[in-house]
Amino acid sequence: MNHDRSLALQARAEQCFPGGVNSPVRAFRAVGGAPPFVEHAEGAYLFDADGNRYIDYFGSWGPMILGHAFPPVVEAIERAARKSASFGASTASEGDLAERIAACYPAIERMRFVSSGTEATMSAIRLARAATGRKMVVKFEGCYHGHADGLLVKAGSGVATFGIPGSAGVPEEIAHLTLALPYNELAAVEAAFAAYPDAIAAVILEPVVGNAGCITPEEGYLAGVRKLTAQHGALLIVDEVMTGFRVALGGACALYSLDPDLVTLGKIVGGGLPVGVFGGKRRFMDQLAPLGPVYQAGTLSGNPLAMAAGLATVGYLQEHAAEVYARLEAASGAVAEGVAREAAGAKIPLTTNRVGAMWTWFFTGGPVTNYEDAARSDTAAFGRFHRAMLDQGVWLPPSQFEAAFLSTAHTDADIAATIAAARRALLA
Ligand SMILES: *Cc1c(COP(=O)(O)O)cnc(C)c1O
Repeated sequence: MNHDRSLALQARAEQCFPGGVNSPVRAFRAVGGAPPFVEHAEGAYLFDADGNRYIDYFGSWGPMILGHAFPPVVEAIERAARKSASFGASTASEGDLAERIAACYPAIERMRFVSSGTEATMSAIRLARAATGRKMVVKFEGCYHGHADGLLVKAGSGVATFGIPGSAGVPEEIAHLTLALPYNELAAVEAAFAAYPDAIAAVILEPVVGNAGCITPEEGYLAGVRKLTAQHGALLIVDEVMTGFRVALGGACALYSLDPDLVTLGKIVGGGLPVGVFGGKRRFMDQLAPLGPVYQAGTLSGNPLAMAAGLATVGYLQEHAAEVYARLEAASGAVAEGVAREAAGAKIPLTTNRVGAMWTWFFTGGPVTNYEDAARSDTAAFGRFHRAMLDQGVWLPPSQFEAAFLSTAHTDADIAATIAAARRALLA
């Protein structure tokens, strides 16, 4: 595979952007090798600046569940663009998308659109603090909720990938308001409420962790956290920026029958354009300005292009839910288990965690039930696997601590090709 154009573009990018990127994990530091520059994408395939084709298993980090340049989404964006890209005034499209989201999420009685997942979680936490009059927030090790100051403590995604404990530039006064606990351990949550009575405003979690690699909630864990937060007067914020519309039409809330106080969404709800959502019980949401004292705003919030892409995506998922989620489950199971079998055949310790169309192949004997387990993975072996797959035209998320995704555009032939590539990569 020739990468001359990508290498030249990377050299130029390094003169413009720290590390040559606008988001750190894109730089491939964790897996080695040079990141291809994407020229265009269609369906399940990414095409780079040198004309190489890759089967895409990161889907823009989640949003592209219907594949790239899905015609109904492209047409919706084109139609909206002809009417002007932004007004800074309300449009019908915001209500159209909101009604579709609310139909899938009974817990969301009121919502606000923002432009990223980071903004959604940041706003949800401000609201939880205002509603409870408390300051502390409980999160879990390896969970990533965007890059707001208080949420980077023991965060997953790039923070885990680069092995940094949090982030420089976050004052300890702010970091100290965040308590990071091990995932899947109800006793730790109980102990936190006992240690800090009447001080915890909210517990925020990924209902299926994606940002430490894929980690599934143990039986009864989410219901247990729900019960404890209610008992102790703290809000439960379920961060479904990744899992929303991914693990099921109603996300993890539907899959695990969860009734949180607040939910955050992003990624898929924007259909590839920048959208975040925070929403939940009306008694909390009505505390936002202009009804209440909690300030939150956005020049491009509810942007008409973003609403159009989100509406085309969520609308398609809703109208074809049975066939879409059955296909995603079957195809993801086939590729995740197919590669796991190749690893077993090659006597390579591998633990596969999967919920629907999100999964991770951890290079460890496992099991992987929390961040500490995930961190035992052989990241050098993952890096070799990643490079060998990329060389064969399969682009996996470039870190052991990220989830892989699949779209409705991935064919059985793509899956067979991926498993064959994995066989060669694992035996190499
Ligand atoms: C991606 C992600 C975010 C952050 O969303 P951005 O749009 O990147 O700011 C927050 N929470 C979870 C669970 C995510 O996966």
